[in-house]
Amino acid sequence: MELETLRSHQWFKLICGASYQHLPAIRHLALIYTLAGADCIDMAPDPATIAAARAGIAAAIKLDNTAIAPLVMVSFNDGEDPHFRKAVFDPELCPTDCSRPCEKVCPTTAIKFSNDYNGIMPDLCYGCGRCLPLCPVQIIHTREQIYVPEDIFDAVLHQSVNAIEIHTQPHRTKEFAAFWQRLSPIIPQLKLVAVSFPDCEGLREYLMSLIDGMQPQPRSLIWQTDGRPMSGDIGDGATAKLP
Ligand code: SF4
Ligand code: SF4
Repeated sequence: MELETLRSHQWFKLICGASYQHLPAIRHLALIYTLAGADCIDMAPDPATIAAARAGIAAAIKLDNTAIAPLVMVSFNDGEDPHFRKAVFDPELCPTDCSRPCEKVCPTTAIKFSNDYNGIMPDLCYGCGRCLPLCPVQIIHTREQIYVPEDIFDAVLHQSVNAIEIHTQPHRTKEFAAFWQRLSPIIPQLKLVAVSFPDCEGLREYLMSLIDGMQPQPRSLIWQTDGRPMSGDIGDGATAKLP
């Protein structure tokens, strides 16, 4: 069962990205990673994304009836967070002689210049930030991606979502507690809650202050002190390296 692998340090989670909403890709990823034995699939908390992931998991189990459905986890934030953003620009402002470095660097081919479409396709952008510094005229900006937790309550009650990750930041104790209260009707239904934030001074005290705000308490809890956000995946990456 999913949580036994967590206890034996063999937990294996697919992160689709809190801002990534390309439904065919989500479905394919969910299918492949279910067959590969993933324990959990983490995604944007919108009903279409959840349905696409569920379709992929069901297709995997149809292909291999020994496959086990992973936990379906959705991610939220309790305030501004780089995981929850998308890039935008007005293509009308692009100089005609621009060599389009934005288009070349985008890992999801979200930036298009064609007869049909010019600009960033929102579903494909996960806010990684690669394109932002490359624009010679600095017209690429980001906008916050806002999700409403109440939108997934039905999915939790019907168990199509059974885990939540909350992204917070140091010194947001009050905001975290307020967000937890919004989730409180569904906390007892969740198999797992993960709390993710960057490393900080006074980490232990900060963790304790967050626990004080966790009423009702979760059935299982992961502290995910990554040190840097996945959407800042430029440079050394999200995993700390040992010297
Ligand atoms: S932020 Fe990243 S994913 Fe979004 S358009 Fe720019 S390079 Fe592509
Ligand atoms: S780099 Fe900037 S100016 Fe050039 S095509 Fe991209 S958005 Fe337009």
